[in-house]
Amino acid sequence: ATPTALMVGTGRGAQLGILIKGPEVLEATRAVDTVVLDKTGTVTTGRMALIAVHAVEGVDEKELLRLAGAVEHASEHPVARAVAAGAADRAGELPAVEGFDSVPGLGVRGTVEGRAVLVGRERLLVDAGIELPPAVTAARQTAEAEGGTAVTVAWDGVARGVLAVADTVKETSARAVADLRSLGLTPMLLTGDNRAAALAAARAVGIDPGDVIAEVLPQDKVEVIRRLRAEGRGVAMVGDGVNDAAALATADLGLAMGTGTDAAIEAGDLTLVRGDLRVAADAIRLSRRTLATIK
Ligand code: ADP
Ligand code: MG
Repeated sequence: ATPTALMVGTGRGAQLGILIKGPEVLEATRAVDTVVLDKTGTVTTGRMALIAVHAVEGVDEKELLRLAGAVEHASEHPVARAVAAGAADRAGELPAVEGFDSVPGLGVRGTVEGRAVLVGRERLLVDAGIELPPAVTAARQTAEAEGGTAVTVAWDGVARGVLAVADTVKETSARAVADLRSLGLTPMLLTGDNRAAALAAARAVGIDPGDVIAEVLPQDKVEVIRRLRAEGRGVAMVGDGVNDAAALATADLGLAMGTGTDAAIEAGDLTLVRGDLRVAADAIRLSRRTLATIK
């Protein structure tokens, strides 16, 4: 009867919009007590918009947008899409970029009209030996205090301004977090984004500030999962990005958003087909029920 019950479980999963890699996946849910949620694209829509532009004195706003937008146009990151779309809206056609390169979790760089442009977190600029004038740091702090993500822009070794982009929490995320809690699970938020933006999203969906882990580089997300497991927790991870793949594979149970990247879907044990976070709780509930009928 065991294999039959597992097959029924996976069939019911398909009806709910859950694709399960194999029947053995259900077994992994037994130990889960903690659900780590990626922020961008998982708890939030990942559809960010450009909300503010701060050029340092002497820099033309349109020029700042044109050059930053040109480099971001070559990136698929949700932050990059927002910058490129906002720049095209406000500054017109974007010039071509040469030598484009992306630094995961930090930003992008490329050459536009002969200028070496860097776009991303302050850390990207600092790592390149670029000084941050007080006006740039102040603009970054303002953007973050408003719950946004600050994108700093530099060219030819000088910081030129800050763009602010903001994302919105999915309508279903607060309900999903409540559902997870009702199953006795502890929801946590894990993100590469800044702490203020992470706390704003956590507050909106009902995750405790103490369960927010922010400013984690993509390669370190997997370390966070390992550490939680070493503390004796059973960890499920829900994510959508290339930067979540290793963490999804390392968690006791990896849940990939069907709306996310192929890398995440391949690494996950199951896929939430419609990208609806509420289905994460359904998946765990279904597994428990299926296992209960076997036991
Ligand atoms: P998350 O963990 O929330 O899915 P990422 O690890 O992909 O986010 O990115 C972390 C942070 O790195 C972003 O919030 C942003 O500040 C910065 N970043 C990453 N890629 C870019 C980019 N192309 N342009 C600007 N900033 C970027
Ligand atoms: Mg993400």
